[in-house]
Amino acid sequence: MSAGTHLSLDLSTLYLVATLVAALLGALLLFFWHKEEIAALGWWGAAYLLGAASVALWTVGGPELGFTLSLAVNVVGFIACGLVWDAARVFHGRAANWSMVAAGPLLWIVADVMLDPSAVQTRMMIGAGIVAFYAALTAAELGRERRRKLRARWPALIVPLLHGGVLMLPILLGDMLQSRTGGVAGVWIAAFAAELVLYAAGTVFVIFMLVSERTVTAHKTAASLDPLTGLLNRRGFGEATARMIEREAKAGRPITVMIFDIDHFKSVNDRFGHAAGDDVLTVFADIVASSLRVTDLVGRVGGEEFAALLPCTTEEAQLAAERVREAFAASGVRIDDVPLETTVSIGVAGGPANTELEVLMASADTALYQAKRGGRNRVEIAIEQPLSLQKARRALASGAGTQPADAAIMPADAALDIRI
Ligand code: GH3
Ligand code: MG
Ligand code: MG
Repeated sequence: MSAGTHLSLDLSTLYLVATLVAALLGALLLFFWHKEEIAALGWWGAAYLLGAASVALWTVGGPELGFTLSLAVNVVGFIACGLVWDAARVFHGRAANWSMVAAGPLLWIVADVMLDPSAVQTRMMIGAGIVAFYAALTAAELGRERRRKLRARWPALIVPLLHGGVLMLPILLGDMLQSRTGGVAGVWIAAFAAELVLYAAGTVFVIFMLVSERTVTAHKTAASLDPLTGLLNRRGFGEATARMIEREAKAGRPITVMIFDIDHFKSVNDRFGHAAGDDVLTVFADIVASSLRVTDLVGRVGGEEFAALLPCTTEEAQLAAERVREAFAASGVRIDDVPLETTVSIGVAGGPANTELEVLMASADTALYQAKRGGRNRVEIAIEQPLSLQKARRALASGAGTQPADAAIMPADAALDIRI
C-alpha cells in the first residue's frame, strides 16, 4: 500500500467480517430454502454456514489450533466445497452425491495423517487439488447443462465457487500470507475485501433470481396445462408443437397430426351430468397419453377435442390412432353401473418436413369430419398431400400481385387518353 494510505485492514479482521457475512448469507439462504422450498438453496445455505464455521475456527485458532482441530477445520471447509457442487447438481434436478462430497475430506485426512508435518508444500498442493477438484466438478455441472435457460443461471454457480476459492486459498497459503505484511498479502487483502462485497451482493442476486424464476416457471406451467386432464392446453400444445416442428424440420423428418373428437359426447353430459362427462374426458386423456410415445405431443385443444403431434410418417401414426380408438372403445367405463359406449373419431394428416402445423391441423380436421360422416368410431387419413401454407401464400401473392400492377398502369393510360 502507498505511504499516504492510512486505511489498513488486517487479515484477521477481514476474515472475521467474511465469516459474519458468510454466516448471515447462509442463514438467508436457509430462510429462502425453507420459505420457497427450493432444495438447492438449502444446500448452498449449509455450504455457506459450514464454510463460515471453518474460516471462523481457522481465524480464531490460527496455527495454535493443534493437529486434530486444524484437521477438523480443513475437513469442514472441504465439505463446504463439496456441498456447493451438490447444490449445483440439485439445482439441475440431479440427485445429491454424498460419496463424492466425502471423498475430498477423506483424502485430506489420509494425507494429513500420513504426511510428515514438515511437508508443507505437499500438503498445500493436496489441499489446493481438492478445492480445484470440486471447482472442476461444479464447472462441469454447469457445462453439462445444455438448456440455454438454465445456462443463464451461471452466477448461481460462479458466486459461491469464486468465494470458496478466495476463502480457501489463505488456508492453503496460510503461512505465507501471515508471515508477510506487504506484497502478496497486501494485494490479497484488498482483493479479498472487494470480492467479499461481490459475494454478498451476488448471493442475494442469486436468491432472487431463483425465487423469481421459480414463480415464473410455476405460472408458465399453470398457463399451459389443462387442469382437468393434466395434458397441455391449446396454448401449451401450440408452443410445444412449434418447438417440435422446428426440430423435425431441421432434421428433415416427417410429422403427423391427429385430431380426436369423442363421439356423441353431448349425450353423456345430457344423460349423466357434466361431472360424468368430465370423468370420460379424463379416461380418454389417460388412454391417449399411454397409447402414444413419450416423444409425441398430446393436448386438449377444445372441450372434448384432443390433438397430437407425432414425429413419424402417416402410416406409423395411423397404427397409433387405431390403438387409441380400440383402447377407448374397450375402456369399459360405467356410470351408475350402466356401461357406457365410448368411442372416438380420429382425423390424421401427415406431411414432409417443413409442413406448417396450421396446414396439417386443417387437413386432419377435414379427415375427422369424414370420420364422423362415415359413421364415427373410425380413423380417417387425409388423402391429399396438404398444400404448404407457404406455397398457398405465394400463389395468393402472385394472384394479388397482378392487381396493383394493373392498377399502376391504369392512371398512365388514363393520362395518355387525356393528352390525346
Ligand atoms: P359428435 O359425435 O358429432 O362429436 O357429437 P358430440 O355430442 O360429441 O359433439 P358436440 O361437439 O356437439 O358436443 C360436444 C359437447 O362437449 C358439448 C359440450 O357440452 C361438451 N363439453 C365441452 N367441454 C366440456 C367439458 O369440459 N366437460 C364436459 N363434461 N363436457 C364438455
Ligand atoms: Mg366436438
Ligand atoms: Mg364430439
